[in-house]
Amino acid sequence: MKILILTLLLAAPACGKTSAERTQELLYKFEDDAARYSLHVDTDTLTVKFVDTIGGRFVGACAPILKEIWLVKSYWRSASGADQESLMYHELGHCLLDRGHNDNHNGPYGLPSSIMRRTGLQGDVYETYRDYYLKELFQGG
Ligand SMILES: [Zn+2]
Repeated sequence: MKILILTLLLAAPACGKTSAERTQELLYKFEDDAARYSLHVDTDTLTVKFVDTIGGRFVGACAPILKEIWLVKSYWRSASGADQESLMYHELGHCLLDRGHNDNHNGPYGLPSSIMRRTGLQGDVYETYRDYYLKELFQGG
């Protein structure tokens, strides 16, 4: 019986996708979203790496010279789908759109202006105002 349970757990990772499959899905989604704003971006040049820590303070980072995005494993596993997308799009904003941080609060109802906020944008806020944040990301920089 123990063997059967272990097999089932291995065959059914959370959400039915591995972390690598989920990040690849988000890379293609980012390309599609950029194309809707007439931007061509190529995510094939990037490598996504899962790490244990990034100096203990960050959950994601972009190393533009290495063309690498680093994601903290423990955060990624516990993050909602919207939190994951918000984080990936933030890092892709650095890596592919050459965006810096924007800590203003000129978004809808005084919300953060940009997904490029230094501390990241909460997934539920991002999801609710996704059209606004995508327009700002791809056209506002
Ligand atoms: Zn950043």
